[in-house]
Amino acid sequence: MDTKDVLVVGAGPVGLTAACQLARLGVTVRVVDKLDRPTTESRAVTVHARSMEMLAPLGALPRMMARGRRVDGLAMVDGPTGRTRARIDFAEVPSRYPFLLDIAQPDSEAVLGERAAELGIVVERGVELTALTQDDDGVEVTLRSGDRDERTERVGWVVGADGGHSPTRHLVGARLEGDFHGQTFAMADVEVDTDLSRDTIRMFTHADGMGIFFPLLDTRARIMFFVDPPGPDAGDPTLEQIRTLADARMGGRLRVHDPRWLTYFEIHHAQVPRYRHGRVLLAGDAAHIHSPAGAQGMNTGIQDAANLGWKLALVARGRADAALLDSYHDERHPVGADVVRTTTALTSVGTASGAAASVRDAALFLVGHAHRLGDALAAKTAEVTIAYRHSALSVQHGGHPRGPVRAGDHAPDPDGLRRADGSAVTVEQLLATPGLLLLARTDEADTVDALRRELGDLGRVVQVVPAAGPAAGDDVVVDPDGVVAARYGLSPEGLALVRPDGYLGLVADTADADLVRRYLTDTLGVAEPATR
Ligand SMILES: Cc1cc2nc3c(=O)[nH]c(=O)nc-3n(C[C@H](O)[C@H](O)[C@H](O)COP(=O)(O)OP(=O)(O)OC[C@H]3O[C@@H](n4cnc5c(N)ncnc54)[C@H](O)[C@@H]3O)c2cc1C
Repeated sequence: MDTKDVLVVGAGPVGLTAACQLARLGVTVRVVDKLDRPTTESRAVTVHARSMEMLAPLGALPRMMARGRRVDGLAMVDGPTGRTRARIDFAEVPSRYPFLLDIAQPDSEAVLGERAAELGIVVERGVELTALTQDDDGVEVTLRSGDRDERTERVGWVVGADGGHSPTRHLVGARLEGDFHGQTFAMADVEVDTDLSRDTIRMFTHADGMGIFFPLLDTRARIMFFVDPPGPDAGDPTLEQIRTLADARMGGRLRVHDPRWLTYFEIHHAQVPRYRHGRVLLAGDAAHIHSPAGAQGMNTGIQDAANLGWKLALVARGRADAALLDSYHDERHPVGADVVRTTTALTSVGTASGAAASVRDAALFLVGHAHRLGDALAAKTAEVTIAYRHSALSVQHGGHPRGPVRAGDHAPDPDGLRRADGSAVTVEQLLATPGLLLLARTDEADTVDALRRELGDLGRVVQVVPAAGPAAGDDVVVDPDGVVAARYGLSPEGLALVRPDGYLGLVADTADADLVRRYLTDTLGVAEPATR
């Protein structure tokens, strides 16, 4: 294996997302997983708006939607009476995807696996990473396949996406830091007969502990309950125990049968201090573990992978300095820390009893009746509030400080854009072309040429114009109503450089090619003159 190549350890949702992102950006990537076949455990069952925005350009989202259920809101229900105390609707989440997608993790993984195969990746199953050492030029990895001998190989970079017990994390000497005395859930992947609508995730409050109902496809559902730790020899919960919990805590509205997976799950809240260890990058559960409350785990990991993928692609292909990878830690570690904090707080709220439960119930009443608060909570849960304004990669030139967006925000994706042939187009569709996307609002052909020379093969310049001229081609987008000007604050001229993960790297109120050159060389560390 060439030392420019990347080894992804773990073919879970995070490893597969990273591998797809790397492969479509031209990196030779290899994926190993110690399991002989993919997991059948449903585990993470909710995909949030920000993850969907990233999975769409990757070409995975429509297939995931076909295998999942669209859910419009979250409701807090009083378990004993069945009365809804508060409801959070996702309709106002500022995204193309103002809803939640409930899909069992094996289905998400199957779609990502299909996508990886289309990109030429063969997941090597039954192959386990057992040792790793690195030097300035590469990483020596030892891989064990079943009973066969271990073999040592050299790779350029390693993405440790090998889950909560991550051997990669252990091998680079990193440790999770946090709280390892978590609460316990009883979880069930079952068929459910109920008169409750299946467009809502319901959290049933109860003095003995919360119960949560996630509707999946057809009559399938994930239900889970906070319970006392079952004891070391308890084994998995039985269907009868799950039925008893559902009857007691969910007002008798759910009849459960035909279990696929029943388990106890003890939650911990912890994170590694550093995501980058030289040529080894940790992502997903390998870097942070927390409660499933808020369903943030897999989503945070998928977004780690999207953030890391394009940076590692530039570095692995020798196009950018390895220092670019430090921004992966700088941008994603605070996000992970916030998720650990928030899910810890949510879990405490969910398990509150006595006076604390009364405070929670009063707060729920407030959330249910203050729509702005509900919308803010929905946006936070959907992860669309994540931005990197303080990142060294976010460069803003001009523009009003309180303009609609700043560098570091997620790129707006307004309706109203057209291709030169008149058909509708979105920023998300433009991002399906691998690489950086430079939206240039200018009428000057020379300016566009200069921008193209600077960006070279690192991405695509799309000229945004108010009306299509006769010679307009694929790289022209028509914006008759000025939605780009309004949503990006680019008026009358300007540019926005959108990173492959959908965030704005450079925003400028002038379409100056020099700014692009400086951004690439000074900010991203792209080697000059590259292939222009
Ligand atoms: C029992 C359980 C229930 C959960 N429930 C929820 C939930 O309800 N909601 C939620 O949001 N999240 C839940 N999670 C968490 C969620 O599953 C994770 O956040 C998500 O899977 C993270 O994806 P990942 O790719 O980082 O890791 P994983 O999905 O764990 O994938 C890691 C992969 O690495 C492989 N691997 C490990 N070691 C090696 C090695 N040495 N060599 C090669 N391969 C290796 C593993 O076989 C595995 O396939 C649950 C997790 C568990 C374990």
